[in-house]
Amino acid sequence: MSELLEVNHVSYAYHSIDGETETLADISFHIKEGEFAAIVGPSGCGKSTLVRLMNGLLQLQDGNLSVNGINAGNPANKWELCKICGMVFQNPDNQFVSSVLEEDIAFGLENAQVPEREVTSKVKAALELVGLEGYEKRSPSSLSGGQKQRAALAGVLALNPEILIFDEATSMLDPKGRREVLAKMKKLRDCGKTVVMITHDVEEAVLADQVILMGRPNGQKDPNTVLAQGSVREILTDSRLLIQAGIVPPMAVRMYEDLKLAGIELNRCPLTKEELAEALCRWKSEN
Ligand code: ADP
Repeated sequence: MSELLEVNHVSYAYHSIDGETETLADISFHIKEGEFAAIVGPSGCGKSTLVRLMNGLLQLQDGNLSVNGINAGNPANKWELCKICGMVFQNPDNQFVSSVLEEDIAFGLENAQVPEREVTSKVKAALELVGLEGYEKRSPSSLSGGQKQRAALAGVLALNPEILIFDEATSMLDPKGRREVLAKMKKLRDCGKTVVMITHDVEEAVLADQVILMGRPNGQKDPNTVLAQGSVREILTDSRLLIQAGIVPPMAVRMYEDLKLAGIELNRCPLTKEELAEALCRWKSEN
């Protein structure tokens, strides 16, 4: 698999009347084509800033960043980056421009100058991909939270971006809506799409293949950087590292450690509720 996203020594500072605040410092990581990566870190650690640098909404100040070979350092590439990076944001209500779902998706396609004869079939295909066939004439406002996010995703998928970025896309949804959107992320990854999930929620990040953990290395004074990058199991079972980053470890990992303190040693550290149940059954049958 080739590298789709390459971030090398990127730093970023916001300028305000109070001066300059270094938000990101020396960020480096790579994401390969077809990979499902989670960028995890506490609120305010600069995840959205990083995404805005990827999709051209913010201009790169320092370091190198390229998406599918397109250099984000060149302001002329801003629109190209926007097309390559399909974004699904936190609030589903802010992502629609029309009161009819099919028109909303068609609007994005027309804006992208997709030939008129292709629009109808692309709208249909995108709605099918997110399981909303039959909802063409519905108003986005009449949908549930999970359906709204899937509808927003359909609008993004219709444009066939190289990379899909979900920026805290489940944080405003109820548990059912959350499950719907997470299932779609997983399905897209299984179909070979490159998916980047931005989240502060480790229970969701366990779905990804790899984790890029962001935070401040030595407490509040330092700017945010990448604290670790590795497989989901490697990073999310490392409680010490997660706590240092200001993240509560997954419930199964906390249970594993509490059980260990109580003298119950499971064969390996579980990541999910299902893995925890399996490890407990195994322990019980062996003891
Ligand atoms: P996250 O997505 O991890 O919550 P953000 O990228 O939104 O983090 O914010 C990182 C830091 O940058 C925060 O301290 C935030 O207050 C600051 N910040 C974000 N946007 C701006 C802005 N437009 N101007 C000044 N500071 C900002």
